[in-house]
Amino acid sequence: MASIQFLKGVGPKKAELFGRLGIETLDDLLFYFPRAWEDRRPAAGREPLPYLDPVPVVRGKIKTVRDLYTSSRLRIFKIVVETPYGEAEASFFKRHSPRFDVFALLRKDLKPGQVVWVTGTPEDPLFLSRLRADEYYLDSDAAALKMHIGRIVPVYPLTEGLTAKFMREAAYEAVQAGAEAVGDFLPPALALKRGLAARDLAVRAVHFPANNFELAAARRRFIYEELLLLALAWAIKKRQTRSVLKGFGYEIKKNLLTPFRERLGFQLTAAQAHAINEIFADMQVPTPMGRLLEGDVGSGKTVVALSAMLLAAENGGQSVFAAPTEILAEQHFLTFERFLKGLGVRFALLTGRLKAAEKKKVLADLAGGKIDILIGTHAVISDGVKFKNLRLVVVDEQHRFGVRQRAALRAKGDKADMLIMTATPIPRTLFLALYGDLDLSVIKEMPPGRPPVKTTEATEDIAFQAAADEAAKGRQVYIVYPVIEETQAADMKSVKAEFERLSVYFKGRRVAMLHGRLPGDEKKRVMEDFAAGRIDILVATQVIEVGIDVANATLMVINNAERFGLASLHQLRGRVGRGRWASRCMLVAHARAGDSADRLRAMVQTSNGFELSEKDIYIRGAGEILGVRQHGDMDFKIADMSRDKDVLEQAIEDRAALLAADPELVKPENAPLRHKLRSLYAARWNLIDLS
Ligand code: ADP
Ligand code: MG
Repeated sequence: MASIQFLKGVGPKKAELFGRLGIETLDDLLFYFPRAWEDRRPAAGREPLPYLDPVPVVRGKIKTVRDLYTSSRLRIFKIVVETPYGEAEASFFKRHSPRFDVFALLRKDLKPGQVVWVTGTPEDPLFLSRLRADEYYLDSDAAALKMHIGRIVPVYPLTEGLTAKFMREAAYEAVQAGAEAVGDFLPPALALKRGLAARDLAVRAVHFPANNFELAAARRRFIYEELLLLALAWAIKKRQTRSVLKGFGYEIKKNLLTPFRERLGFQLTAAQAHAINEIFADMQVPTPMGRLLEGDVGSGKTVVALSAMLLAAENGGQSVFAAPTEILAEQHFLTFERFLKGLGVRFALLTGRLKAAEKKKVLADLAGGKIDILIGTHAVISDGVKFKNLRLVVVDEQHRFGVRQRAALRAKGDKADMLIMTATPIPRTLFLALYGDLDLSVIKEMPPGRPPVKTTEATEDIAFQAAADEAAKGRQVYIVYPVIEETQAADMKSVKAEFERLSVYFKGRRVAMLHGRLPGDEKKRVMEDFAAGRIDILVATQVIEVGIDVANATLMVINNAERFGLASLHQLRGRVGRGRWASRCMLVAHARAGDSADRLRAMVQTSNGFELSEKDIYIRGAGEILGVRQHGDMDFKIADMSRDKDVLEQAIEDRAALLAADPELVKPENAPLRHKLRSLYAARWNLIDLS
């Protein structure tokens, strides 16, 4: 493949910088898609596309040029141009230098009578014709008109040393040199059916579209490609998983399950029992289970997972339970201690904070088969962790794990069963796209006797008064802030600063602080103290978001609530209402920006996670809540699962038809598609096996 170094204007030095962006070949650059597009056409004739940023552009003949000083040693170069719509003014600002003329170049380029283009920002939103200038181009500069101005212009993610302008020029050269030869891998019938733009034209248009229509068509083509490949990869993964044999069988012996049920102290809900049945049925089948368990915060997923792990233990198999944070792993460990006492099940905790000797012992016991259930954080995925006979992998709060981590965990067990749990309900199309290899169980009902949590918006005063009241009644309170320490972004309150203040405010109460940067032992101690009721008010960051289960906590105060996503707000709210007391969640908003008002309103209106998730996906985009974006898992270059829902639906439909006609994708017309899948999802992500 042609190295980027030989592209016109690049060379070895720049090629190294491109390397930092993952661009090595001409093809890499061709498929290095813009992150946005700027509309730099003159104002007339624009119609907006949602991803097209309008940039104020003025084009006209220069009438006057003035060079001004201000008192602050700033110099201003001001031009007035005549446009078809009247006069416009553009000002260039530069710091004065005693040594050279900062405007020498401008004075040379911008002479009265010249026709010039200027981009910039309006000095005043009411006077669009007065710009604070950014870039300028002469109308006589033909190259500029091809790449930089008077058209829709691509905007790329950059790295130091590569300017936006240089990137555009390189992309332009790349398109000239290579677009024609990119080839296609979609079966022609499919491209025809979906009316997709030809791939070579789409490459050209995604970088330098002639108009909105071309841009929309090019984007659609590449979004479709990405989503179809993903959907196919999952389907192939599912078939591959289901085609191996576990090589061991399960028998429901009940020597652990029955005493466990008896000890619970409550009846399983019908929904829990149903989920357990589905899981047990999967485990008894000769091929590995891949199942997603969805249930709202507090619906009782842990007990379901425990049942599955006990079935494994009854049959002499090991299980691992992976939680997203240390705090959560420790919480689960305590829960397991409570539920498993006296059953003779051997379980252990493995987190990053174990001392070397303790860790060594756990690892040795695990390898020796002396541990039935291992609870841990990501650490359980690391390579040093070896099981004797791992049969079940449980991943809790999946939205915090990436798909690659999930695959790594699975690879640990030789054909192990896998159960993934999430409190974020996922609409069907998204489920198929993101978890297409899994079957689904849903816990739709909450354990009985849970008074719903009442959610209100409140001022800080009201919320703190409520906190004092709860503490006086012997209940416990969480007060959450968005950041640990004060930052430049001045409108966010921090745990550290507020902890000082609240310790004084709630004098006489036991106030403690919890955040991710505390030393491990201290975090653990604070959590234990809170769980044991030795702390009245816990001032914390979002670390408490998932899983923490303290029945005596009845008030959740969320400060800067406008800063949190809906999924996080709902998770935080789920920390209260876990006992028999009426509980409340108070949202203290310090500012209102963008869609935050919608989120807060949604929180007040419903406490049902399923309803909320529909809104969340609407308001915020699904990638974020599902943990795709954070982990950069799938590396989507252009698709956005929430925005491109209609294309996703088409891709899923087409996948089904493709695989029904050619399950192994071995027909000649599907060969290029298979090849593409192999290079992306087999070679690169190691998700599937395609030889
Ligand atoms: P989540 O689904 O959010 O992980 P948990 O498993 O932490 O929920 O359960 C929340 C709380 O409800 C725990 O204290 C758990 O012991 C309790 N619980 C679970 N199932 C039931 C039930 N059927 N009846 C009463 N309480 C239950
Ligand atoms: Mg949980």
